Amino acid sequence: MLVLGIETTCDETAAAVVERQRDGRARILSNIVRSQISEHARFGGVVPEIAARAHVDLLDGIVGQAMKEANVGFAQLSAVAAAAGPGLIGGVIVGLTTAKAIAMVHDTPLIAVNHLEAHALTPRLTCALAFPYCLFLASGGHTQIVAVVGVGNYVRLGTTVDDAMGEAFDKVAKMMSLPYPGGPEVERAAARGDAKRFAFPRPMLGRPDANFSLSGLKTAVRNEANRMMPLEPEDVDDLCAGFQAAVLESTADRLSVGLRLFHERFGQPRALVAAGGVAANHAIRGALQNVAARAQTTLIIPPPELCTDNGAMIAWAGAERMALGLTDTMDAPPRARWLLDANAKAPAGYTNTRA
Ligand code: ATP
Ligand code: MG
Ligand code: FE
Repeated sequence: MLVLGIETTCDETAAAVVERQRDGRARILSNIVRSQISEHARFGGVVPEIAARAHVDLLDGIVGQAMKEANVGFAQLSAVAAAAGPGLIGGVIVGLTTAKAIAMVHDTPLIAVNHLEAHALTPRLTCALAFPYCLFLASGGHTQIVAVVGVGNYVRLGTTVDDAMGEAFDKVAKMMSLPYPGGPEVERAAARGDAKRFAFPRPMLGRPDANFSLSGLKTAVRNEANRMMPLEPEDVDDLCAGFQAAVLESTADRLSVGLRLFHERFGQPRALVAAGGVAANHAIRGALQNVAARAQTTLIIPPPELCTDNGAMIAWAGAERMALGLTDTMDAPPRARWLLDANAKAPAGYTNTRA
């Protein structure tokens, strides 16, 4: 089964062709990702309108390139999958409409994929992982712990009640005038710094739920930075080290609660899987390794190019759904918000329902 996947929910314009073989194994025939980082860098973050226009300009070429590299014609496709949300609505419309046009012209089934579902199923693209497993997704837009029980069966065990983890890294970088995207810059500075110089709060530590909070920590870093302005290079390093240490401790605590909740409801997870740009952080990987070992499960982190936004994960989620006969109609809507767990509610006491 050959599936074309299209991803345009944020600042990557991406398309890929993935083959799902009869035994359920995957082969990536092409995976083209065009990051728009250079278009957005001077604004210090993703500008939705610029992203949407860039997707319009780039997507045709990227799809053509993905098909050419895979050496596949549109008539050979079993399905066309697009990320139909959650994400920046302008970009989502561009990708989903393109997929609908291809599906209509070539009379091919359409699959409207939830972007988070695609992250959740990525480990099955790279290895033969059985359900259920526990996903930790931490990117610029999302921070979630999800029980992946089966295709289409996801239970959100924890989420951020304010900023996403990658977003917090980006904002901390920005307040110290480090370039965008800030995650890798903060990681580099933190490696040189003294994590003990500042005693930043450890958000949510010891709470019985598995939620995250990052905005209080971010504000604590900002207050400290403002107090010391102008910052010397060692100040930047120490602030980054202090921030990252707090994120690590909070993440380890939140994940061990998440794994406990997982165990109570679904038994032993087959693995702890990390995805999203933040999973590239070496210190975070180390912390995840410890958490997994303590919960007697294995840590799986897909290769970085499949952890961040890409078309192959959309194509693969499409293939998994197609194999179960789960196709969509031409009126599948683009969605800015789309909870992975259809029944998930915002945690009690919070009004923020970000997916
Ligand atoms: P989405 O949230 O829709 O998945 P995104 O584009 O924001 O999309 P990714 O591309 O998966 O997400 O990840 C980008 C984020 O990961 C940025 O916020 C970036 O700062 C963060 N990041 C990347 N590398 C690191 C790192 N080494 N340490 C910490 N954060 C990092
Ligand atoms: Mg991105
Ligand atoms: Fe993503």
